[in-house]
Amino acid sequence: MGLDLAIQGGQKTISWEIGPYRSLGEEEARAAYEVVASGVLSGFLGEWGPGFYGGPHVKKFEEAVTEKFDVKHAVSFNSWTSGLTAALGAIGLEPGDEVIVSPFTMAASATAILHWNAIPVFADVDPRTYCIDPGSVQKLITPHTKAIVSVDIFGYPAATEQIMSLAEINGLKVISDTAQAPGATVGGRFAGTLTHIGGYSLNYHKHIQTGEGGVAVTDDATLAENMALIRNHAEAVVGKMGKADISNMVGFNMRLGEVEAAIGLIQLEKLERLVTRRQSLAERLSENLSGLAGIQLPAIERDRTHSYYVYPMTLASDQIPAPRSKIVEALRAEGVPGLGEGYQNIHRLPIFQKRIAYGSGGYPWASFPGRPANGYEKGICPVAERLYDQDFVSLALCSFDFSERDIDAVSESFYKVWGSLDNL
Ligand SMILES: *Cc1c(COP(=O)(O)O)cnc(C)c1O
Repeated sequence: MGLDLAIQGGQKTISWEIGPYRSLGEEEARAAYEVVASGVLSGFLGEWGPGFYGGPHVKKFEEAVTEKFDVKHAVSFNSWTSGLTAALGAIGLEPGDEVIVSPFTMAASATAILHWNAIPVFADVDPRTYCIDPGSVQKLITPHTKAIVSVDIFGYPAATEQIMSLAEINGLKVISDTAQAPGATVGGRFAGTLTHIGGYSLNYHKHIQTGEGGVAVTDDATLAENMALIRNHAEAVVGKMGKADISNMVGFNMRLGEVEAAIGLIQLEKLERLVTRRQSLAERLSENLSGLAGIQLPAIERDRTHSYYVYPMTLASDQIPAPRSKIVEALRAEGVPGLGEGYQNIHRLPIFQKRIAYGSGGYPWASFPGRPANGYEKGICPVAERLYDQDFVSLALCSFDFSERDIDAVSESFYKVWGSLDNL
């Protein structure tokens, strides 16, 4: 005895502060200073000419991304939400086209589809990987389907090989939302580089960051060009440039600044080290927690690596005598930081439940009655819904500067709570 839970008045397992994750250092500060001192914070011009593709740091950053990820083209953006939106425009989406996407992701994976008046169709996820399930995708393909947005959620690569073969058979385009998985690999290649377009977020919360930012990668020159156009007021230049296909050339301003690009160049060099560190912490945690009953830990297939933006877990709630909320509350009381419950069910957000996106009249759906065929009701994605409602627990591995000692104390907290599940 003596192991009273902190939530019941016992001693806290982690009585010390675990500091925030920090990827930035002196080098980024110096790089930012030099750009500011140069007086040129953006080299972009919204007209046809040398400035159309951005300033020197933007170009250098994109060049470095192509080398790092071994792709032919990289196009930077002021966010990965912008990158996703441009990617979906670049593949030539028509209003009413259906795009299959996971609901267990951040909202931008789906709203980027809506920006072109196309219809998001939600497929269920694989309970082991939390990524879109190719079997579920296959069932949802109709003559209206144009593309699949495959999300490498939490840092783990989706079943990209199967999704690409489905796409090939059905003539679809695939976009990887690899926002959370830069540096993860599939058969030795980087996640995000195995589809028609992939890309990474450079948001403050991600493995590497420029504050706000994102970058798309592709081997297809036309798709890269289309994205660069959508990024920078395409409509103003397509005539002068001589572009014949002007569909979706309603431009935005999605341009990355020079300061961000200069910081991105340095962050890119740190990516491998930062990801390796997350992997080593996660592997330690998995090894520590492997003796716990009733909880599924990340299972890594032999040909893949995980970048552990988030450390995902699934409770076997049928076998566990306490509800998830109580378990998480007890772990938090022990001092475990960064715990989350449930993540997202995008199809259950009001925008989809009420089918109101553009204006108040129900557009784009009002133009395409009966779509999508599987609707947005609760029940269309049972695995993702169950994860959201009762089974999924996460640890934000990329939000804290965990040491080995911290990870061991987190593990100890789990064992302590598991020892008292009957009394929670
Ligand atoms: C962070 C994130 C995005 C959006 O990236 P931003 O750079 O923040 O716009 C999209 N998809 C997923 C899965 C993300 O985690």
